[in-house]
Amino acid sequence: MSTSRRIAFIDDDKDLGELVACALGEQGFQVDVYHDAFHALENLQHGWPDLILCDIMMPQMDGFEFVEIFRRRFQAAAHTPVVLVSARENASEALKSKVVGADDFISKPINFKVLAATVLSRIAQCSRISQGAMISRIFQSENSRTRETRDIYRDLCDAIDMSELKLYYQPKIDAAGVVCGAEALARWTKNDGSIVPPNVFIPIAEQFDLIIPLTDSLLHRFTQDFERWHRDGRQVDFEVSLNLSASHLSEDVFSASFESVPVHVARNLSFEVTESSLFKNLDRAIAVIKSAEDYGVKFYIDDFGQGYSSLAHLRDLPVTGVKVDKSFVDEWADDRTGRKLLSNIVSLGGIFDIDVVAEGVEHPEQRDVLIDMGCDELQGFLFSPPVPPNMFAKSFLC
Ligand code: C2E
Ligand code: CA
Ligand code: CA
Repeated sequence: MSTSRRIAFIDDDKDLGELVACALGEQGFQVDVYHDAFHALENLQHGWPDLILCDIMMPQMDGFEFVEIFRRRFQAAAHTPVVLVSARENASEALKSKVVGADDFISKPINFKVLAATVLSRIAQCSRISQGAMISRIFQSENSRTRETRDIYRDLCDAIDMSELKLYYQPKIDAAGVVCGAEALARWTKNDGSIVPPNVFIPIAEQFDLIIPLTDSLLHRFTQDFERWHRDGRQVDFEVSLNLSASHLSEDVFSASFESVPVHVARNLSFEVTESSLFKNLDRAIAVIKSAEDYGVKFYIDDFGQGYSSLAHLRDLPVTGVKVDKSFVDEWADDRTGRKLLSNIVSLGGIFDIDVVAEGVEHPEQRDVLIDMGCDELQGFLFSPPVPPNMFAKSFLC
């Protein structure tokens, strides 16, 4: 348990405050004790804890009133659990606790084992509670744009828990025009039917430590899609690549995620990692890619050419290929320099003996030029947009 978890305990009984601070202190919590709800509310303005324990029967302002005011005034702390403590154990007190916005209810005399279990389970059950509180603190005085980010974060937590994220699949085509692979791309449609694009929710997931559970849920989703295709008698005789963020470029994280994928599914999986993620910690990234090699899993550098990879690094990185950033694919038509640049990037594949995939191919002229230049694989709207798994199976799997 992290010692940084903070709990506010509000009770007019001073002796009890000391006992609770001591009991929860032993569990690694830092306990701020308040003897009246006014004082607590005043202090909570400066930042709120990870959990609040509040007595119901207090003079001046009782626990119910405190919760109502806390919930109304500190809407950004909606994820902070409040546990009410009552001297009377009866159903109507418990019900009223829920109605005013408390999350749990324990009775007096406090059994410290029950107290510790309630606090620990509330925090462990929803490990994001404290993260939500932290984020709430960050968002507290922010503008509507950050409020929007916070709302997306909260909905995204639920979407991950409920396995609502889906994958769409976009085929990769070889120089002969045959489907030779696919990229799996995350898709999220909210309950109200609105679509949140990945370049909005992925950065939020990365920023607020949701990217690992998000990617794990996509790995699970891929396993389900793959097994359904298999049950339907469809053959997947190529790799499907999934995008990985920088957080996965640590051996522990990568192997924990990857080991959850069944072996027969993992055989068809590869990963795309952007140059910028790789260069956040190159040595660690190399270690992960090498360890993945043992499982026969391939890595590609995504958005290649954006300026991070020096040629020396490219030589050291045990990657199977690079995906040329769409901006270079677009530039070929603009001028001779753009075309030369593209041609040089593609020729790096030959020098380092790695595959070159061009993405964002939209026009037949681009396709022809890229094939002439020696590109191994192409991907883009010219061939197909990313499509749902059933449509992908119908159109591209035998
Ligand atoms: P990316 O990995 O570079 O993915 C390619 C993006 O280009 C996809 O956008 C794809 O739909 C789009 N695209 C494909 N062909 C064309 C084309 O011909 N023209 C144009 N204009 N666009 C094309 P999408 O699906 O919106 O994804 C955007 C980015 O979000 C991805 O860029 C990737 O960085 C990130 N992303 C998507 N899914 C995941 C995921 O599961 N995990 C992580 N970590 N990132 C993801
Ligand atoms: Ca990609
Ligand atoms: Ca890309």
